[in-house]
Amino acid sequence: MTRAYNFSAGPATLPEAVLRQAQAEMLDWNGVGASIVELSHRGAEFMGVAAEAEANLRRLLSIPDDYAVLFMAGGATTQQALLPLNFAAPGQTADYVVTGHWSRTAIRQARPYVNVHVVADGEPGGFRDIPPRAQWSLSPDAAYVHITANETIHGVEYREVPDVGDVPLFADFSSSIASGPIDVSRYGLIYAGAQKNLGPVGIAVVIVRRELLERAGQPRADIFTYASHAARDSMLNTPPTWNWYLLGLTVKWMLEQGGVEEFARRSEAKAALVYEAIDSSGGFYRNEVAPAVRSRMNIPFFLPDETLTARFVAESRQAGLLGLKGHKAVGGIRASLYNAMPVEGARALVEFMRDFQRRHG
Ligand code: PMP
Repeated sequence: MTRAYNFSAGPATLPEAVLRQAQAEMLDWNGVGASIVELSHRGAEFMGVAAEAEANLRRLLSIPDDYAVLFMAGGATTQQALLPLNFAAPGQTADYVVTGHWSRTAIRQARPYVNVHVVADGEPGGFRDIPPRAQWSLSPDAAYVHITANETIHGVEYREVPDVGDVPLFADFSSSIASGPIDVSRYGLIYAGAQKNLGPVGIAVVIVRRELLERAGQPRADIFTYASHAARDSMLNTPPTWNWYLLGLTVKWMLEQGGVEEFARRSEAKAALVYEAIDSSGGFYRNEVAPAVRSRMNIPFFLPDETLTARFVAESRQAGLLGLKGHKAVGGIRASLYNAMPVEGARALVEFMRDFQRRHG
């Protein structure tokens, strides 16, 4: 069996060691005679798995004690709708910074529940940069300020935490969580779908300053209430146990590999290889994102025309490089370099890019 290098944006490549452990434990977890996915979420076995995953995630991201960590069924989009429901009063304003496709999604989910104020919009610049903080028109009475830490499609990433004063900063970290140190205390809330750096699709992580859970928000069911999930250790209803288990294995693997400092080093190295290949191609490959905000996780780039793009996708697949087709919103190619992608994968991609250009450039 050979495993290809998988550059998918999510669901994405997982560490081989994690997949092997899950495979080995599939029929009989820890000698209990059943798979972990067959056991009650309230039994000692799964409760142990869940608690260990949370403890390890807290260690990995240095999450302070005054933050709750929630494991929620579903993806990041659901959180985008829950934010205004839980934290904004009816008619209140929430501030949103638009840096690409996923900022827009966050706004679309919030609009039914809150008065969305766009404080800055990168679209006129083609989402090639993050509007500088000095140009943001923040509302003094906003319920929160929402940013997208890394834009998975447009390939722009904040390299600094913007200072937004006393209004809590909420951030979508779906595609960059655990790719480097995060100063959690600078945020009111961080959320992430797990399917990029944390494990499988079907579960999202929410890290929220506990005092914010006291906000009244808006009329909503218990199941949409973060405080209720927090009070019941994310077991308000049956949680996605399989996904939680796989997330736990992935987080443990990241700790064993050296934690977020190590992944920051690897991410810089992998991204540098690919950007160098793009920038030294004499315009054959193009990425126009401002260097200071280029994403280390998702690198979109373009070839001279559609025919070459299609050929690149087909030939790369044959060469064992999967998932390089760009998102339909922007086209082109996209290489996602999440934590489970080894540096050898980035090297193999660069080698393929150079060879492809020699043959077709
Ligand atoms: N935010 C970001 C930054 C994303 O990359 C994605 C998915 N690619 C989402 C939100 C939506 O996540 P989900 O599909 O899990 O709802």
